Amino acid sequence: MKDLKETLIKRLKSDGADIVKFGGIGQMKDPSILRIMPETKTVICAAFRQLRGARRGIEEGSTYYQYTTNAVETLEETVMPLALLRACEILEDAGFDALPQRRNQLVMSQDEGTNPEVDYAEIYRGKSRENQLDFERCAEDCGLGEKGLSGSILTDDFGPFQRYVFILTDAELEADSPATPHLCDKCGKCVAACPGKALSKDGKLDQWQCAAYYMGANRSKNPFMPPDAFEEDPQKSDIISGKAKLSPERAREVIDQIHFYPPIKHAYCASICGRACDTECYVHLEGKGALKRSFKTPFRKRPQWSLSVDGG
Ligand code: SF4
Ligand code: SF4
Repeated sequence: MKDLKETLIKRLKSDGADIVKFGGIGQMKDPSILRIMPETKTVICAAFRQLRGARRGIEEGSTYYQYTTNAVETLEETVMPLALLRACEILEDAGFDALPQRRNQLVMSQDEGTNPEVDYAEIYRGKSRENQLDFERCAEDCGLGEKGLSGSILTDDFGPFQRYVFILTDAELEADSPATPHLCDKCGKCVAACPGKALSKDGKLDQWQCAAYYMGANRSKNPFMPPDAFEEDPQKSDIISGKAKLSPERAREVIDQIHFYPPIKHAYCASICGRACDTECYVHLEGKGALKRSFKTPFRKRPQWSLSVDGG
């Protein structure tokens, strides 16, 4: 089985994975694993870096496609599914069952939740956990990393800059230990960085608030918002300054008025905030020297820009 594990790691890495971890079923706390596949003995987690450079355009306020196309769409729709298929083939060739698990962005367990990365109208809500793993829970249990205050998984290699997939298999492979939390120091910079105040101080995410500001409702961080945006909306100044507290219904009305930047090919919403919460976390961890991978220059090269909410 040691050989099989090594073969899987090698294959996943040659297909683009940066970190591969194995969770024995005894250490996995998400009950949906055994509901999805009762014979699961091992959960394999493969994480793929989101290029730091994919956020460069948003950091500079210059180009915005690159984050959503490269760091979301291409990973989710091309790189990770292909790597999953290849790794599952290895397990099948060895005589084991292998069930690939990638996020279905359109399925949610909550009745009233939303996912900022996709059109809220396309989401299937109230679908129970049996449909999908608890990705963050499984990532922690497999030993990928720790959950930060922001809710993102943080790793020593990439901070919050990765996405990940899983394979459930009945092969019993040597397990890794869950990570001991040591990266998130509760600095609160992720909370402060959100242009829509979607994260509370204790890290609770208001998904609808996030959805509106992910798409760029705050003019000070959206170079594409025309002067007449939200003209008919009585809350215009609060919305474009990021002060509005949006109910799910109001968030839908705000989102419906945002047509300043085209969506991405698979209809992923273009991220205008660029997940500022994660970017700020990365800058913080990099500044502390907490990340294993270093660059010649820091990610943040100059003071952050901000546009006037008056449209100037
Ligand atoms: S920005 Fe600070 S508080 Fe937020 S997740 Fe990162 S380390 Fe934790
Ligand atoms: S920074 Fe963006 S992704 Fe993060 S909570 Fe705020 S709106 Fe959501």
